Parts: sequence; C-alpha cells; structure tokens
Amino acid sequence: MTLYECARRHAIRMAWALLIAIVFVLAVDWAYGHSTIAFAIAIFGLIWLNMPMLGFNCPRCGHNAFFRGVIVVPWPRKTCGKCGLELDRPAES
Ligand SMILES: [Zn+2]
Repeated sequence: MTLYECARRHAIRMAWALLIAIVFVLAVDWAYGHSTIAFAIAIFGLIWLNMPMLGFNCPRCGHNAFFRGVIVVPWPRKTCGKCGLELDRPAES
C-alpha cells in the first residue's frame, strides 16, 4: 500500500472518530446536561487516535503528508510538499 493510501485511510478513520466524538458529547449533554469532562474525553481521544498521523512522512525527505507548510490539514497530499515525491505511487526501492 502506498503512503498516500495509508494516510487517506487514516484521514477517513479520523473523520469517523470525530463524528463519534461529537455524538458522544451531544449524548452526554442530552443525558446529564452540559459536561466539560465529556468534551475533554472526546478531545483527548481524538488527539490519541490521531497520533499515527505523525508517522505519515515522505520516505525521501521525511516531510509529513498532512502538512502544507506549517499548517496541518485533515487530508494528505499526493505529492510531497518538500521534495515533490509522488506519495500515491509504490515506494521506489
Ligand atoms: Zn519528500
């Protein structure tokens, strides 16, 4: 599997996790009233789940596929932002 494909799957997982986190906070809000703790659990859960994101680095220069300069976006790029390596092609050995 290519780096782009792995990163894309991670992005889709994170979209689902975000949706579940929102539903979780809303459900706790609805059942127990406003809860900062539920919100904190959701945020920490999302940060924890998003940890693998830091591993999607360009095999040639190490630039992260989710970074556009210094800005992090929720979707990976197909070509490396630093060296231009195509991340949706099988790795050159
Ligand atoms: Zn690169």
